[in-house]
Amino acid sequence: TIGLMIAIPLLISRQIRIVVDNQRLRENLEVKVEERTEALASAMEEMRHMAYHDALTGLPNRYLFARLFQDALYRAEASEGQVGLFFIDIDHFKKINDTYGHRVGDQLIIDVTTRLQKKLPPNTVISRQGGDEFVVLLFDVEQEDEVIQCGEQLVSLFEQPFHHGIISLPVTASIGGAIYPAHAASRSDLIEQADLAMYEAKRRGKNQFYLHDVSTTPI
Ligand code: GH3
Ligand code: MG
Repeated sequence: TIGLMIAIPLLISRQIRIVVDNQRLRENLEVKVEERTEALASAMEEMRHMAYHDALTGLPNRYLFARLFQDALYRAEASEGQVGLFFIDIDHFKKINDTYGHRVGDQLIIDVTTRLQKKLPPNTVISRQGGDEFVVLLFDVEQEDEVIQCGEQLVSLFEQPFHHGIISLPVTASIGGAIYPAHAASRSDLIEQADLAMYEAKRRGKNQFYLHDVSTTPI
């Protein structure tokens, strides 16, 4: 009897400890599963963002830009509206890399992005095509003048120098523009025309906006 009186409480307390330990283990496991699920969800979100955005600037990449561009063209077609496309290429960017190093070059690309984002009207999409080249889509355009004004605004955005610490970087850009449907019938055609216009701006001495012109743009 005495043995049982000692053994039974011991057994009961051991059982209770096992139940409590199991409960704690289960809770710990649930917390871990929850943490892992959250980490996985945020990794997936990060991967999704990386698939659609440029790593240096966070701007829409070519793929996302192409989709937004196509949507803008569909809307323009449906409403008989227009779409402007600009190619921007920084002038003498290699010299900045060579003089100050790639990190300053990278920072300049980020600073140009910030300036474009701050100053351009809300009916624009900015994308980095790679290197020192950006494209800007101006959607829901009613008058050709709006495209010309935006092109001139783009040139003026480079009037003030950029700063990197104590270094002042006077930077200019060459900008080419083309309009759908006046200058091109499709997305790829509009890209080609705006790109050619940008090369024409370079050829004419850089630091300027050149709007596609059938009479001067080589076919
Ligand atoms: P141009 O006036 O004719 O535009 O000549 P550019 O010196 O600006 O050179 P270009 O536009 O032909 O080429 C851009 C250069 O940018 C090529 C490459 O050395 C550099 N570059 C490309 N990608 C990156 C990048 O991610 N970071 C940095 N820092 N430099 C890059
Ligand atoms: Mg360049």
